[in-house]
Amino acid sequence: MPSTTALPLAALENASEFVARHIGIEPEDERRMLSVIGLASRQALIDAVVPANIARGNPMDLPAPLTEAQALAELKAIAGKNQVLKSFIGQGYHGTLTPGVILRNILENPAWYTAYTPYQAEISQGRMEALVNFQTMVTDLTGLAMANASMLDEATSAAEAMTLAARVGKSKSTTFFVADDVLPQTLEVVRTRARPLGITVVTGPVGDAAGAGAFAALLQYPGVNGAVRDLKPVIDAVHAAGGLAIVAADLLALTLITSPGELGADIAVGTTQRFGMPMCNGGPHAAYMACKDEFKRSLPGRIVGVSVDAHGNPAYRLALQTREQHIRREKATSNICTAQVLPAVIASMYAVYHGPEGLKRIARRVASYTAVLASGLKQLGCKLPHESAFDTLEVTTGDHTAAVLAAARAKGFNLRQASRTSVGITLDETTSRDDIHTLWALFANGQLLPSFAQFEQGVATLLPASLERTSAFLTHPVFNAHHSETEMLRYIRSLSDKDLALDRSMIPLGSCTMKLNATSEMIPVTWPEFAGVHPFAPRDQLKGYEELDSLLTGWLCQATGYSGISLQPNAGSQGEYAGLLIIQAWHAARGEAHRTICLIPESAHGTNPASAQMTGLQVVVVKCDAEGNVDLADLKAKCEQHSQNLSCVMITYPSTYGLFDTHVKELCGIVRQHGGRVYVDGANMNALVGVAAPGEFGGDVSHLNLHKTFCIPHGGGGPGVGPVCVVQDLVPYLPAHRSAGLGTEQQIGAVSAAPLGNAGVLPISWMYVRMMGADGLKQATETAILSANYIAARLADHFDIHFSGNNPEVKGGGVAHECILDLRPLKDSSGVTAEDVAKRLIDYGFHAPTLSFPVAGTLMVEPTESEPLKELDRFCEAMIAIRDEIRKVESGTWPREDNPLKAAPHTTEALLKGDWTHPYSREDAAYPLKSLRLQKYWSPVGRVDNVYGDRNLFCSCVPLSAYDH
Ligand SMILES: *Cc1c(COP(=O)(O)O)cnc(C)c1O
Repeated sequence: MPSTTALPLAALENASEFVARHIGIEPEDERRMLSVIGLASRQALIDAVVPANIARGNPMDLPAPLTEAQALAELKAIAGKNQVLKSFIGQGYHGTLTPGVILRNILENPAWYTAYTPYQAEISQGRMEALVNFQTMVTDLTGLAMANASMLDEATSAAEAMTLAARVGKSKSTTFFVADDVLPQTLEVVRTRARPLGITVVTGPVGDAAGAGAFAALLQYPGVNGAVRDLKPVIDAVHAAGGLAIVAADLLALTLITSPGELGADIAVGTTQRFGMPMCNGGPHAAYMACKDEFKRSLPGRIVGVSVDAHGNPAYRLALQTREQHIRREKATSNICTAQVLPAVIASMYAVYHGPEGLKRIARRVASYTAVLASGLKQLGCKLPHESAFDTLEVTTGDHTAAVLAAARAKGFNLRQASRTSVGITLDETTSRDDIHTLWALFANGQLLPSFAQFEQGVATLLPASLERTSAFLTHPVFNAHHSETEMLRYIRSLSDKDLALDRSMIPLGSCTMKLNATSEMIPVTWPEFAGVHPFAPRDQLKGYEELDSLLTGWLCQATGYSGISLQPNAGSQGEYAGLLIIQAWHAARGEAHRTICLIPESAHGTNPASAQMTGLQVVVVKCDAEGNVDLADLKAKCEQHSQNLSCVMITYPSTYGLFDTHVKELCGIVRQHGGRVYVDGANMNALVGVAAPGEFGGDVSHLNLHKTFCIPHGGGGPGVGPVCVVQDLVPYLPAHRSAGLGTEQQIGAVSAAPLGNAGVLPISWMYVRMMGADGLKQATETAILSANYIAARLADHFDIHFSGNNPEVKGGGVAHECILDLRPLKDSSGVTAEDVAKRLIDYGFHAPTLSFPVAGTLMVEPTESEPLKELDRFCEAMIAIRDEIRKVESGTWPREDNPLKAAPHTTEALLKGDWTHPYSREDAAYPLKSLRLQKYWSPVGRVDNVYGDRNLFCSCVPLSAYDH
């Protein structure tokens, strides 16, 4: 048909077309959904469920939305304002070559980056295998028995090691020793963490470690200025003085030198950044922590363990969860929830790809080039204060320090200022012969340059011979079998094929906001202008990041109603921690440091009480009423009881039950009357953006989870970004970063190793806001609420909707952006548990909703705005079919102990076994809905036994023999 009708150009250009890509619900779907809910318009729904008294005063003031191509072009121009020099700065961040097969098939692959934290073991076997490889890599290289996967950065890992040592050590001392060649940003974060806990940090030369009377000492190996010392005598002396030894070690160096474990260290920490993860202005990178076997039950963070499935085959699951915040709350070993899974997977794959010999070759090359550089510099008359080195040389520059640094910059090189009179030069696997020539030239002063010819036959490294590593590492076949690209590609694919991520189906996890992570949002992450930047490069080279920071914080201020935001915290838990420190700093400035009571409702996320504990606060639990709201009478009573010592209340809004409490303003008023401040956990902002702003309705401090509401993918359990947001009078207390030369006296200390935390993933949220605009974001919020209410309405005839708003106009009662299905009554009638339903959903091709949080025996469903109606319906049909299956158990058609729910998930192996003894058919098991015949996810393992795994704790690669039976 010829198109002769004229259309307005604006309609054709439709600048906001991304909104329609991000939001999965079409206008005609919306009408259908509203008719199921029983309302006439989306606005009527919002009016029915969002309390009028919290509605925003004004719409958000954001720039008009751009298309994907326009936004990418605008961001490219901003990225171009970063100057990417070659970095010889070191200090915990190194150039690295990300193998292309890993870059494209993991870092840039939604099968890996859109997965969730592996709580549902059966659908997470692939990423857990990668994490077990990570743990094995860390334990092998550090020579210690146990490792987690993973820590947020080296600095916070060192701080957590300090508190681990305080928990497990026998010393009564409250002094912590930090050697003066520890990375400066590590020292700064350790100081931040130590203060509220009453720990005194002392620093001094390594040799003073034992004399400090400390409960533990933190040593760097090699030191920041390059010296590679035999730490064994120091560690022995620390032990003799009753302390524990923590060694912050470089994993690449450990391929050549004696491991911390063999030197006697109790705990090892560090970063895995140089194993293939670009510097990204400081993050995201996986840090590690390893410890002696006897401390394993006190180790912070996530640990993957090996257990067995229902058929006796090896299967992975998260081990020792009873240490963690979601179970142990204020008694947890740390507040870590989101960690750095994607970067940990990348580091582990780097080790798998290169293998032990490949890693040694890389390390030897770095060490040899360092020796060549040193030898040439000595020929040129330079003074090098240290005899030993792995990859870093300190070069005495006297009065010429500034001139040398400037001359290097003019050649496109960043060196480190090691002291007033010396510079540091750190090499890495990207260093070339030309680079070494250029470095020599900086110190030549007209002398003839040394030549490579004299080194052609090899050089002795500057590593002390006595420290040569003799122990084997990475001997497991997995590190010795995938060295060709073909094999590597297939290994990566075989693991991702085992897992369910957003690229296959909806992940309806309540409280986690598994929404679209658009490809256009992801593309800038690996642009060299963002990825190639060192966090401690001179500030004037970071103009692009500065602009990204200021634009994004400005937009987030609009979204939240707050006045100041820091993007430094690299997870929600870290944002909470920073926010509580800010509140305490404010109290202290008013002479009220004694205010240390933190009220937390019983329904709170586990990170809340765990963060409060780390800030030195005392948690007082407040009850919730029958509707799931904070019990105001109990809150009042607790406020009165603790009036003199009240620091703050920590609430989640909308609540963790997915409800808008109509009394929130009153609650804030009560707390304020008693001198306390209000912390609003902003992890549920997906129900608020554009509709209500915590900074307006009574919050003083919030954290956001950019990896929930603002589209940073979950990465299988990280990275995240947890910005801390504050009202005007708290702005002066936002986190500083003094080792990067940022911040005033009044500001709290650094909470992350890098000034901008996980800077490398901030472009994702920037792109999201830039392409959505104010109307698009508001529409996303309203659609998320619509979709949750649609699911509640469709499932209300089949399940109890727990804690709904009891709104008679709305079918299902009215919820916010998620709804809780109460399965406890079914347990009584059929013996079927919420966990059985979660596992049966796998047979239907779904990742389970959030299981037993915030209420045991329930499933919490959060659809988000990105899921199309077809997918919401597919989920509802699966849930309704499962309800029918439960009816068959209730009626006795299937026995309570043997039915498709109890035996779920069904593996192909189980289904193809010769003798089928179940009272239901194989078809019932595998294809309960016809649509599954067209597309089916097969669980790689049967139901994983959690108890077995904790009783028989094993957290390294499984010997191949375990699979032959
Ligand atoms: C996810 C979540 C957190 C923790 O955020 P992390 O980034 O995982 O540390 C805190 N509170 C609530 C309510 C959450 O849902």
